[in-house]
Amino acid sequence: MTSDRAALWAELREWRRDFHRHPEFGFEENRTARLVAERLRGFGVQVTEGVGGTGVVGTLRRGRGNRCIALRADMDALRIPEQGERPYRSAKPGVMHACGHDGHTTMLLGAAKVLAERGEFDGTVRFIFQPAEEWGKGALAMLGDGLLERFPFDEIHGIHNLPGLPVGEFRTRAGAVMSAEDNFEIVLRGIGGHASRPQSGREVLVAACTLVVELQTIISRRISPAQTAVLSVTELLTDGTRNALPGLARVLGDARSFNPKVSEEIEMWMRRIAGGIALSHDCTVDVTYTREFVPTINDPAAADAALGAARVALGEDHVKMLENPNTGSEDFARFLEHVPGCFAFLGNGETSMPLHNPGYDFNDEAIPFGVDYFVQLVRQQLSPSGSPA
Ligand SMILES: [Zn+2]
Ligand SMILES: [Zn+2]
Repeated sequence: MTSDRAALWAELREWRRDFHRHPEFGFEENRTARLVAERLRGFGVQVTEGVGGTGVVGTLRRGRGNRCIALRADMDALRIPEQGERPYRSAKPGVMHACGHDGHTTMLLGAAKVLAERGEFDGTVRFIFQPAEEWGKGALAMLGDGLLERFPFDEIHGIHNLPGLPVGEFRTRAGAVMSAEDNFEIVLRGIGGHASRPQSGREVLVAACTLVVELQTIISRRISPAQTAVLSVTELLTDGTRNALPGLARVLGDARSFNPKVSEEIEMWMRRIAGGIALSHDCTVDVTYTREFVPTINDPAAADAALGAARVALGEDHVKMLENPNTGSEDFARFLEHVPGCFAFLGNGETSMPLHNPGYDFNDEAIPFGVDYFVQLVRQQLSPSGSPA
């Protein structure tokens, strides 16, 4: 058993490093998806490819139970040039696995292998390998391709590695666990002109700067202090140049919150403030406000189930409730809009570089913990002896 496990971890580490060496951007995960499908078939899992672009769904049935649990991993990499000299560094210039999706894919393959070989559950497991998480588009693409109708399931679970948290540690919480991400672009249009004669045009830079400052009042003055939200202006671009006042300014940024109502309020106040500033500066304004990611809201029962399975798999002392939601965003949230489930965090080590950093690397030591957690979760939720724990 121990040597079996050691052999499994060694094999999974090789797979993870191979995925790392061959990163693929969202909706281009052709090699990754092909390897995932081949390996799942090799374990005896029924496989459907091309779900929502490059997505792969594996189905594994045991016994007669009619409950179905879905486990999800993401497969895409980022357009970030990798730094560092590790032997399995990215072979594709400008693209790297800087978010650990190589590790997520590997851990789910490991769980599929163990569950296919040893079973010990009664019902159906769906293994969902999704494309394009970083774009916030992959989950929607799979849902739009009939995921829920073609491969129905009762609950869904996923994990993300967390730099800074020791390896072998597990965290999650009921309710909001990751934030919404909204993007905005505000375009002010006036009339540019000579820097020496501002009165003869309708320049927009002062209006844009006023707007940047006024936007800061949305979170501090308009949103209830009981809510959590953040709004950041990240770019201010104009068509001005030395000695020419701009006639066009673009103010871009990002807002995050954990409640769809708060996101609506931010948009409403942004439109009102932008309109008022445009009026007082005699220019016109267009506000584009888009919701890239919805908040990730864990179902309380699913979060309890996840914490319970993690306590068995990782040990009581290594599993804690996450105190505060994470202000990052995840398109796993799109699945949770339809089916109850839980998204959880697994330690990537205290010395891990942050996610999306060019020096980041998924920690192979975390693989056994992710595999054991998924396997235990399936056995618990599809318990042959009756109802889920
Ligand atoms: Zn990411
Ligand atoms: Zn990620």
